[in-house]
Amino acid sequence: MWTLGRSLHLRSSLVPLPSWTLSLTCIGRSVHKTSAQGTNSALNFSDGRVFSLKRLWEVMRGLLIFRMCSFPSLVKNSEKLMAVSRRLMGRRVFEWGMRGTVYGQFVAGETLPEIQACMERLKKLGIRPMLAVPIEEDLGEGKTGEHWYKQNEAVMLNCVDLSSLGGDRPMMQLKITALMSADLCKVLSVCLSDPSRRKELSPHRILSIMEGEDSTFSFLSEQQNHHLQNSVRRLSRVGKHAKQKQVRLLVDAEYTYMNPALSLVTMAMMAQCNRQEPWIWNTYQCYLKDSIRNLSQDLDTAVGLGLCFGVKLVRGAYMDKERKLAKLKGYPDPIQPDWEATNRSYNGSLDKLLDLIGQEGQRYNLIIASHNEESVLHAVRRMMELGIDKHSGAVCFGQLLGMCDHVSLTLGQAGYLVYKSIPYGSVDSVLPYLIRRAQENQSVLQGIRKERDLLHKEWRRRLFGRN
Ligand SMILES: Cc1cc2nc3c(=O)[nH]c(=O)nc-3n(C[C@H](O)[C@H](O)[C@H](O)COP(=O)(O)OP(=O)(O)OC[C@H]3O[C@@H](n4cnc5c(N)ncnc54)[C@H](O)[C@@H]3O)c2cc1C
Repeated sequence: MWTLGRSLHLRSSLVPLPSWTLSLTCIGRSVHKTSAQGTNSALNFSDGRVFSLKRLWEVMRGLLIFRMCSFPSLVKNSEKLMAVSRRLMGRRVFEWGMRGTVYGQFVAGETLPEIQACMERLKKLGIRPMLAVPIEEDLGEGKTGEHWYKQNEAVMLNCVDLSSLGGDRPMMQLKITALMSADLCKVLSVCLSDPSRRKELSPHRILSIMEGEDSTFSFLSEQQNHHLQNSVRRLSRVGKHAKQKQVRLLVDAEYTYMNPALSLVTMAMMAQCNRQEPWIWNTYQCYLKDSIRNLSQDLDTAVGLGLCFGVKLVRGAYMDKERKLAKLKGYPDPIQPDWEATNRSYNGSLDKLLDLIGQEGQRYNLIIASHNEESVLHAVRRMMELGIDKHSGAVCFGQLLGMCDHVSLTLGQAGYLVYKSIPYGSVDSVLPYLIRRAQENQSVLQGIRKERDLLHKEWRRRLFGRN
């Protein structure tokens, strides 16, 4: 889970189209074609009837979780509260409680049957699974030796295999810092800001290391060179396995102090796998002031190398920490000055990519990874205008498991390709990750009122037969 999205009021400039409604009989059927194919489809995210697809206990669990999330102090102190509850209840009762609440809402499960059951259930609702292994590392958390990263490689390869069972056009997410230390990513990112070193640190050079060349960089220590070689070869093996299994691998963007290194190794993975089709995708965080520039540069590099290019477009999950760090260290805030500026940046990148896809849908792919209704509707409208077939897979949508289901269900039932990002793993391994994400995004968590209201309406309808 990254952030929990905020429901927005629809922009008045959007053309009102006939209301689109849903019944249970629609499940599994592709409902509409794009206007380019002759039919218009309007998406109505305020129609709570999509929640008739949920079981009663899921509706009630959603209500409980979103109510809890609306208390900032609860989110802020969640780590402490969970530690205390665990001590008082004992591990088994605590896990049982978690499975019925937070873990159950946001996580697919732990065992293969649990994960597969979650994937199957989503599929029946017209939603595709996008597995995300919740392993990441931040600065100073560097594990000693290669063992931890090696173990994670096995987990990622397994995630590719699991994802390949997820049906048509499977996708998964990859956090580079699970396979390469965050400290080294920071060192490389600093080097990339130095023009003389940037020349040396080219995607080609990284690619040659991936392919077995024994080259080293003078500005890295022996140990760093060794870890770099091992890391990029791990990444290469995961990328090649994903390509072989026909799973699209979406590399996550993390903090600004490591993102340049993540983009470098991602471009090298693209150079290895993306000649014919975009198997490896990169993520662009539109809350960053230089996100459009980074996207344009990477697009140019990909074109120069003759590569296909896949993009996960997000607003960004680490705003508070980025701002705090900039203040603390005294460098300019990398984040857009306000939410409106982030929206302009998001729409600018979205339009640029949709235009490219309108011209060459095979070469460029895009996932609009957002809970923002306005962004989704804007994309749907532009897809219609540009004649982009919603079934082609060139453009798809993504939300987090347990978040903004009214958006995902409505998109899925209308025949758009929509994915839910689903973390999986044991309660112990996933909870710290969920807590970190929730705390990073407290402001967003408090804004999910619309989904809560729709769930409440559905709950009353089930219990009392009225809205
Ligand atoms: C499938 C998927 C994959 C994801 N992968 C990544 C990833 O790799 N890396 C990553 O960082 N995030 C990732 N995210 C998380 C994503 O960034 C958040 O879900 C997103 O930021 C919330 O934005 P939104 O568009 O859903 O909602 P909205 O509610 O429209 O936007 C909220 C966001 O706007 C921005 N914002 C809010 N206030 C301000 C302000 N005052 N000034 C500037 N900006 C502001 C912040 O980014 C905030 O998170 C992913 C999300 C999904 C669904």
